[in-house]
Amino acid sequence: MRDAARKRVLVTGGAGFLGSHLVEALLAAGHDVLCVDNFYTGTKDNLLRVLNPPRFELLRHDITFPLYVEVDEIYNLACPASPVHYQFDPVQTTKTSVHGAINMLGLAKRVKARIFQASTSEVYGDPEVHPQKENYRGHVNPIGLRSCYDEGKRCAETLFFDYHRQHGLPIKVARIFNTYGPRMHPNDGRVVSNFIVQALQGRPITVYGKGRQTRSFCYVDDTVDAFVRLMRSGDDFTGPVNIGNPRECTVLELAEKIIELTRSRSRIVFEPLPSDDPARRCPDITLAKAMLGWEPRVTLEQGLEKTIAYFESLQYRSAQDTARVDRPAAA
Ligand code: NAD
Ligand code: UDP
Ligand code: UDP
Repeated sequence: MRDAARKRVLVTGGAGFLGSHLVEALLAAGHDVLCVDNFYTGTKDNLLRVLNPPRFELLRHDITFPLYVEVDEIYNLACPASPVHYQFDPVQTTKTSVHGAINMLGLAKRVKARIFQASTSEVYGDPEVHPQKENYRGHVNPIGLRSCYDEGKRCAETLFFDYHRQHGLPIKVARIFNTYGPRMHPNDGRVVSNFIVQALQGRPITVYGKGRQTRSFCYVDDTVDAFVRLMRSGDDFTGPVNIGNPRECTVLELAEKIIELTRSRSRIVFEPLPSDDPARRCPDITLAKAMLGWEPRVTLEQGLEKTIAYFESLQYRSAQDTARVDRPAAA
């Protein structure tokens, strides 16, 4: 890569599920990558393929504390993403979103870097309009169990737009919808990982409620492709922009599809619906198509096959490895 095109890129949360795939994509494109992570939910295992220098650096650091480094671009992904993990220490979750955003924005301001924010479809809460467009302002409970995540991410968006207006910072805000793929945590309670692990182990598939709630699942390679395109887009495009797969599916359909693809004998059991669980979620991606020339390419079946293969490979690992991923992450 020519020196002018080669960037020093900071990825916060780079040891996590999405972050590790993004780090790989950036290194493959020829950039220098600094990954900052406190390993709250991420792990060095996710980075085994890239741990060798010279163009990769890994720093253990919590972004709720200031960070002084020299970079050209920042992807701010640090934040636990699954309800089990973000509700484990809700105060830390809000701090990571809010204090973390302030620190990364302060850093971007000092070094004049472009900064990307991994926001979320959760800013729409339990939506009253369907599918969700970026101009929908959301239906979020400010005091519920999901609020530490939802409101933390909403406040982070506010900070991004205020730094943009007040300090002219070039910002890129992506509202990411449910993404799945290899390196999801086997035990973070998310629906795709739960169902695959349950199916592979022949255990009952736990559908919450009646399974009529919907989600739209995007394969990780498609999501990461959108991140990179967004960072490359013109300075005048800030987002927020929905990044997700508009194919909507009920949780029950997902369970049946995973049973079929794994050829599992697991049966479906119904358990209580968690509080504030959104009934429907589906992105309108008209803006992403127009501004980024992006839309998902990987079908649900193709993506699930790859994800199932990943979880199968984990199960072949020794018992002590399984015990390690089973342990809840420490703060
Ligand atoms: P993940 O839990 O696998 O990754 C998050 C990473 O951030 C982990 O490596 C964790 O150790 C790190 N981290 C957490 N708090 C930190 C802190 N204070 N300082 C430094 N590092 C910290 O989750 P993911 O699925 O890869 O999600 C990445 C980002 O994308 C998150 O911001 C999440 O909110 C957002 N997002 C993800 C999805 C999805 O479907 N996966 C959907 C919407 C938004
Ligand atoms: N900050 C940081 N790295 C930097 C510059 C700033 O972590 O390179 C943090 C610092 O802790 C500061 C925050 O970002 O409190 C916000 O910075 P900003 O310059 O916007 O505000 P101020 O310094 O006035 O609080
Ligand atoms: N879900 C389920 N069984 C599980 C895990 C999740 O039925 O074992 C449901 C959950 O109630 C929600 C949907 O699947 O309606 C997606 O849950 P996930 O935690 O993956 O993501 P989010 O709710 O944050 O979109």
